[in-house]
Amino acid sequence: MAKYLLEYIWLDGYTPVPNIRGKTLVKEFEKFPTLEELPNWGFDGSSTRQAEGHSSDCVLKPVARYLDSTKRNGVIVLCEVLHADLTPHSTNARATVLDDPETWFGFEQEYFLYKDGRPLGFPVEGYPAPQGTYYTGVGYENVGDIAREIVDKHLDLCIDAGINHEGINAEVAKGQWEFQIFGKGSKKAADEMWVARYLLQRLTEKYKVTVNYHCKPLGATDWNGSGMHSNFSTKFMREVGGKEYFEKLMAAFDKHKNEHIAVYGPDNHMRLTGLHETQSIDKFNYGVANRGASIRVPHSFPNNAYKGYLEDRRPNSQGDPYKIASRILQTVQTVPTK
Ligand code: ADP
Ligand code: MN
Ligand code: MN
Ligand code: MN
Repeated sequence: MAKYLLEYIWLDGYTPVPNIRGKTLVKEFEKFPTLEELPNWGFDGSSTRQAEGHSSDCVLKPVARYLDSTKRNGVIVLCEVLHADLTPHSTNARATVLDDPETWFGFEQEYFLYKDGRPLGFPVEGYPAPQGTYYTGVGYENVGDIAREIVDKHLDLCIDAGINHEGINAEVAKGQWEFQIFGKGSKKAADEMWVARYLLQRLTEKYKVTVNYHCKPLGATDWNGSGMHSNFSTKFMREVGGKEYFEKLMAAFDKHKNEHIAVYGPDNHMRLTGLHETQSIDKFNYGVANRGASIRVPHSFPNNAYKGYLEDRRPNSQGDPYKIASRILQTVQTVPTK
């Protein structure tokens, strides 16, 4: 037997953006525990804005576990929050995602690394050279001295954990980065996105760097905001599709545009302005290879008889991937496949 360090992590009840919380349980196992071997645990919901009424104990139900390569026998245990009677807590957005192993999501998480209250590489006052050479840039003048170490270490941690991390790029603004996660199964990429965010936040602690997920941290300037483009496909979209279905699907997205925006992250009016490769927040449109559209249709889609995946470009960097996945699937469900 060996002692394993089980880091139970969950989302708290803060709005509009939940925080990741975590606490450690030490438990003996013969070998790396399976999900089934991990017990439910609990926490005090009155300290996380999750207490409802007078009973403040909430239940942590493990839903996935990951290797934590920073520790000997480390395990990250991703949890859903339940009430004492084991029904989903109102803050548990994961429980609202329709279960479908054949739905695939790919999320592109953009974010800024901040130090001393400003993006990494920004001078104490004013701004660095305008945007231009930072996107996919190389060299101290473009990425500074520690950002690449951070993003590469983050990638290692994700890969060790078994997260389907797909890649990294330096983004358009100085101090801004992106990584992508793809998953087959309606909850998989969202689960892994939350664990990847957790790993990034924990990794940056010792650099005295914070991860700023706000969608427009530099306000109404010429500095880009951050999104979390959400790529999605169902089995029907990949295998049957067709122009008629696609047009009905887009009409449904148009009809429900306000419900989508409501869960696509706070302050999105600051980012979806029609500038900087975005569509305005109050409009819905789609277009082939159009980075100024709400939904970008990849070239491959019409070329393949309207089959494949679509990219919803509206979700922002602070969005909860569970809520985003949940809403996209709700809208997809309204469109008949026959
Ligand atoms: P870009 O920056 O040009 O939008 P990225 O490579 O950053 O492109 O992101 C494309 C995303 O699309 C990736 O996360 C990828 O996993 C995802 N993706 C590719 N194929 C599918 C598919 N069939 N269903 C859902 N997502 C997909
Ligand atoms: Mn991208
Ligand atoms: Mn990007
Ligand atoms: Mn994209």
